[in-house]
Amino acid sequence: MSNDIKSMTLQEIQDVIKSAGFEKYRAQQVYEWVYKKKAQHTDDFKNIPLKVREYLEANYDFFLPEILKMQESEIDGTKKLLLQLDEDTKIETVILNDEGRYTACISSQAGCGCGCAFCATGTLGLKRDLTAGEITGQFLRDEIEAGQPLDNVVFMGMGEPLLNTDNVFKAIKILSDPHGRGFSQKRITVSTVGIIPGIDALAEEGFKVNLAVSLITADPAERAKIVPMEKKYPIKDVIKAAKKYAMKAESRLTFEYVLMEGVNDSPEDAEILVELIRGTECRVNLIPYNKVSGKKFASGRREKVLNFQRILKEYRINALIRKEKGADIDAACGQLAAKEGKK
Ligand code: SF4
Repeated sequence: MSNDIKSMTLQEIQDVIKSAGFEKYRAQQVYEWVYKKKAQHTDDFKNIPLKVREYLEANYDFFLPEILKMQESEIDGTKKLLLQLDEDTKIETVILNDEGRYTACISSQAGCGCGCAFCATGTLGLKRDLTAGEITGQFLRDEIEAGQPLDNVVFMGMGEPLLNTDNVFKAIKILSDPHGRGFSQKRITVSTVGIIPGIDALAEEGFKVNLAVSLITADPAERAKIVPMEKKYPIKDVIKAAKKYAMKAESRLTFEYVLMEGVNDSPEDAEILVELIRGTECRVNLIPYNKVSGKKFASGRREKVLNFQRILKEYRINALIRKEKGADIDAACGQLAAKEGKK
């Protein structure tokens, strides 16, 4: 895995190519074959001499993660892919189709150790962090399956991206490198449950990616029951760090609020949320909960969701109800992997 070419920056490829005695500019050609033409085999590298290709073939891995299973929604074209990374590791990635605009939902870890009570991935526990190449590999796989360039990428798949900053940050740098895929950081969103050192690290790196914080509920005591990270990183401090990052990066700050029947969907819950984020330049995504088998939570009723949105709007908070996607497939992240794991 350490020789996965997709884990390497252009500079790193240049260094190895040069130390193997070849011209440095060959690295740029390799980068283009991998990220622009999505070649998975050195035989395709037509403009690169055979001896360089043989060296690359002998020392580096160019393959993309293998698709074990794919589900496609007949309702809206959402595709969910179960990918095999190695013998023991399966992860999910989702391609959302919004009237011809494609968003890839990418995993950063196999499983997750955060243990959020409502989440299918959380039940798996953390298996391991993904490498940068497994993250860029998902991107390339998704772009091939979408059949056209992706419009957006969200780190909202399995895992907590800000607990795997080394690999997630490296993958962002590789994907946004203008010499390779050149994917704009403004079209990447990192979604976190609220890992403050990770948010600060995003700022230190000088990234321009958008940040989304999963609030789930705005009442800290209630939140701590559902999101264990609340005890380590209280939501008020998370919001402070997130605002600081968004201001520095001049990027969008979103709060994700998953509405669950009788848990966080009352008018009082909406008022608590208003108190928490009032005056913050942000957007709130209201997401009806996707039922996960074995979990006690249920999706918020439509009229309650609409009422919740109305209250936020009264306070001039930009609140959108996220369209449900892939309702006829295992849409909640981690469900497919959890099912396969049980098998
Ligand atoms: S919601 Fe996110 S952080 Fe929480 S357990 Fe699931 S994947 Fe992990």
